[in-house]
Amino acid sequence: MFNLDNIIRRNIKVLAGYSSARDEFEGMAEVYLDANESPFESKVNRYPDPNQKLLKSRISQIKGVSEENIILGNGSDEIIDLLIRAFCNPGKDAILTLTPSYGMYRVTSEINDVTLQECMLDELFGLDVLKLLSHVQQHTKLIFLCSPNNPTGSIIPLQDIMSLCREFKGIVVVDEAYIDFAESGSCVTLLSTLPNLFVMQTFSKSWAGAGLRIGMGFGSKPIIDVLKKIKPPYNISSVNQNRALSLLTDTAVLNQRIDYIKIEREKLYQSLRSFPQVLQVFPSQANFLLFKVNKARKLYEYLAQRGVVIRDRSTQPLCEGCLRVTIGTYTQNQQFINLLNQYYDA
Ligand SMILES: *Cc1c(COP(=O)(O)O)cnc(C)c1O
Repeated sequence: MFNLDNIIRRNIKVLAGYSSARDEFEGMAEVYLDANESPFESKVNRYPDPNQKLLKSRISQIKGVSEENIILGNGSDEIIDLLIRAFCNPGKDAILTLTPSYGMYRVTSEINDVTLQECMLDELFGLDVLKLLSHVQQHTKLIFLCSPNNPTGSIIPLQDIMSLCREFKGIVVVDEAYIDFAESGSCVTLLSTLPNLFVMQTFSKSWAGAGLRIGMGFGSKPIIDVLKKIKPPYNISSVNQNRALSLLTDTAVLNQRIDYIKIEREKLYQSLRSFPQVLQVFPSQANFLLFKVNKARKLYEYLAQRGVVIRDRSTQPLCEGCLRVTIGTYTQNQQFINLLNQYYDA
């Protein structure tokens, strides 16, 4: 059975978190002389809400998750770091991830002197749950999964996530940065039944807010409370909280954009497949496509020299010859395909 007390670091468990002026007085006042701020109005002379109440209340409505089950970070990257620092003792504990996957799990574990264990996906980027579980050791505290996975675009079935949560005594983190582009649903619906599931989403992809640096974490209240205790109190600026709220006002626009990207993804998938020189195009549930060619680096450079930059993933495990292209606007995708035509006609 999952027991948070068994996996939280002892120093974090006993830590008395920082209590900010805005934590200690929550109501509305006429005169604020409690936080050593400047009294001169500049639109940003006051500290931001450390609990991001307004923003969380809107996210709660959209995602169907209670506010007490939400944490916001300075990008998902901060949430990854908070998870590792809360649960993994440096020099002793480990996290387990899949390869190939998002690079920040490795970097963040290494910064924190936490061992990285990796389980290879199969040739078609599928996950073998039993194989993953066989990598778990006594000091494995967190499993990081990414679904849809970056850079492969593949998805992990909810069934597999459920079995993993039941078998693993630590926390299963599912990074859903690209979930809005997927046909299958988010695993936030499983949160109420699985106390050791933690889900991450972000403003950086479908919400068109990468510049804001806001990541969302969803989990059981005890896990969220631990992360809240160790996060920097004012980790989301007031400017960014307000901009995020305005991005969230229009879910109709969001859905139109998601549909647009999915249609463009299908067109780009077909175009790429029509080139005999493109050896493989992997089906994707995200806003990018991974495809395989001979001499990937040469094609990458040809495109970059002509102003179209994609991502060379060919040095990643299982990704030999692979390039990753983000789905852009119709015109941008057209520019990319035109250059591919030129390249292969020449
Ligand atoms: C883009 C991406 C993110 C987003 O990170 P932010 O710090 O929120 O911008 C998270 N996870 C994966 C796998 C990504 O590809």
